[in-house]
Amino acid sequence: AGALRLVLGDQLSESLASLRDLDPSADTVLLAEVMAECTYVRHHKQKIVLVLSAMRHFAGALAALGLRVRHVRLDDPANTGSLEGEVLRAARDLRPSRIVVTHPGEWRLLEAMQGWEEAAGVPVDILEDDRFLCSLPEFRRWAGEKRNLRMEFFYRAMRRTHGVLMEADGTPLGGAWNFDRENRAPLRRLPPVPPRPAVAPDAVTREVMDLVERFFPDHFGTLEGFGWPVTRAEAVRALEDFVARRFPGFGLHQDQMASGEPFLFHALVSTSLNLGLLLPWEVVAAAEAAYRAGHIPLAAAEGFVRQVLGWREYVRGVYWSRMPAYRSLNALAAERPLPGFYWTGETRMNCVRQVVRQTRDHAYAHHIQRLMVTGNLALLAGLAPEAVNEWYLIVFADAYEWVELPNVQGMALHADGGIMGSKPYAASGAYINRMSDYCRGCAYDVRDAAGEGACPFNSLYWDFLARHRDRFAANPRLRPSIHALERMPPERLSAIRARAARWLEALEEA
Ligand code: FAD
Ligand code: SF4
Repeated sequence: AGALRLVLGDQLSESLASLRDLDPSADTVLLAEVMAECTYVRHHKQKIVLVLSAMRHFAGALAALGLRVRHVRLDDPANTGSLEGEVLRAARDLRPSRIVVTHPGEWRLLEAMQGWEEAAGVPVDILEDDRFLCSLPEFRRWAGEKRNLRMEFFYRAMRRTHGVLMEADGTPLGGAWNFDRENRAPLRRLPPVPPRPAVAPDAVTREVMDLVERFFPDHFGTLEGFGWPVTRAEAVRALEDFVARRFPGFGLHQDQMASGEPFLFHALVSTSLNLGLLLPWEVVAAAEAAYRAGHIPLAAAEGFVRQVLGWREYVRGVYWSRMPAYRSLNALAAERPLPGFYWTGETRMNCVRQVVRQTRDHAYAHHIQRLMVTGNLALLAGLAPEAVNEWYLIVFADAYEWVELPNVQGMALHADGGIMGSKPYAASGAYINRMSDYCRGCAYDVRDAAGEGACPFNSLYWDFLARHRDRFAANPRLRPSIHALERMPPERLSAIRARAARWLEALEEA
């Protein structure tokens, strides 16, 4: 008998490790749509449609190559509802000589897979997932015994190793590693934003949309605006569209937020990268080629390469070298439940309303919206990391635990106590006001911190610093803020903190 080769929903690459050296005359490829994976958190409807539709297209593409494919559909009456159940059922039916899988993206699944050999009674080979630019052993070597893992140094090492945007003599192009000063301008006037290259749902996607509305009517999100690439060809076209039309504006507008413009100049490639429809070196090479052709400025190319070659690889390394303990870290002892407006968007805070509504409609928010609006509020208000992590894993179409967890625990909440970031990304309303047009349309006053109409980000910001003063006093990067706190007249600080306490008390009506 041949091998049973499992392909998970986020492993849709023809070059996948578990599909290599496949014997088409003897082996079977298994793809299983299972209830347990759709519901272990109540994923956004668009995310379920994306994964299931992409799986169906991928199964079709493998079958067209002449491979034997066993594709179990979600509504197949024989479906056992779990991955393990489907692997064991396939093993019973096909009696394979071995089971071949590629290392999964979640700790939970890796643990489960380690029990399959015994349950199935055949060898299970778990192969390295080499669709990343940094292997896990390589990351562990870099991390060594370091207590803090700074992305900047990892990124420079990656640039050198892969020779990306480098001079022949080993120095970075343009003489600097980082051009953030040229990126990240405050929002003033926005040039016309090229439309998102939305992919119209085909018959396969429409069938899955019906299925999802039937099976998961209560899950978060709407399906009307669904436009994610579900095939490799669509993903490649979407990348080309980004390079041609939005990349020139990427750096400059990277951190801006504008009402009614959910996508701005962003690449919209995370869903395709995380599913395996695009591979990270293709995306990095496209950026370098666009720069070398004179199509985009170096700052835009560098800013983008930093995200894909740097951040994306780095968070994966942090995840696998720190799990499972990383999941339960709560360095700031945050315990407050997640308020309902994270789901409904019904709040007077215009920034939060805009971000939650666009997330409901598109399963997307860009980096700064995730970090500095919903993330910053969760940090300042002391929302419990477990609930915040679950929210981030549910609401975004690109969310898988390996990439979601470090971004939330480390970047947004500082729940890891500084393993990833040298300081928490805490900011008052002034930051949001500088980078967006949200405050103009807000019921709260961004210039006020103590009054009843004060922007909650302001009162919470000072309250947060005061609450954690002892912890942060020694942090050189927070010294100016702690200094400002200490210079504040005591009556003013107590008025601000009293206002923060009242606001938190009535959080559900915020
Ligand atoms: P662009 O802004 O155009 O960036 C290009 C690419 O760089 C992205 O597609 C992504 O692959 C990569 N990238 C950029 N920043 C990061 C980062 N911090 N970590 C990993 N990859 C990065 N990204 C996810 O893919 N899944 C998540 O679940 C996720 N959760 C996040 C949670 C928080 C609190 C924060 C602050 C960030 C999170 N990110 C996550 C990172 C980032 O916000 C998204 O990758 C990005 O918004 C996706 O949109 P884009 O493709 O248009 O990205
Ligand atoms: Fe958000 Fe405050 Fe600005 Fe309102 S005033 S949009 S709450 S930052």
